[in-house]
Amino acid sequence: MTTAVYEPERFRSPEYLDIIDAAESSNRLRIADDCLKAIKEQGESGYPHEICGLLIGRLDAEGWQISEVRQVDNLNSERAADRFELDPAAYQRIDRELRGSGLEIVGVYHSHPDCPAKPSPTDLGSAWEGFAYPIVSICDGKAASLRCWSVNDSGNRFQEIRIQEPA
Ligand SMILES: [Zn+2]
Repeated sequence: MTTAVYEPERFRSPEYLDIIDAAESSNRLRIADDCLKAIKEQGESGYPHEICGLLIGRLDAEGWQISEVRQVDNLNSERAADRFELDPAAYQRIDRELRGSGLEIVGVYHSHPDCPAKPSPTDLGSAWEGFAYPIVSICDGKAASLRCWSVNDSGNRFQEIRIQEPA
């Protein structure tokens, strides 16, 4: 991944910088390489629009253990380049399907076309506590970086989550 990462001016504004915690989360995102690859490929296919999807797995004392990623429609067609609105019907369908399986929806990923893999204030506004939020930066149609975030205990900032291969 040698693609240059674009960083529009707004990502350096106080409004954007204030929502990112300097401290990393102590939790980890354990996810297989093929799941990460799928997120990147979906982001590239959807470019220049934002794509989004669900992380399916478990939450334990060490963080998130992901077994599957599933792309879901982005219903925001008006600002598809910089906003996503996850299809709620798809969310409910997958949630129902997982009932009793021991797995659940534990996060939401999305792409940032021509923007860094850092969350925006809008992302914070729609984020849920306890969810993992991977963001893949797609620059000129190519996956440039992938970082994962979660909301801190006070709900006012994102903390970065380290990504690792499952044990
Ligand atoms: Zn975003």
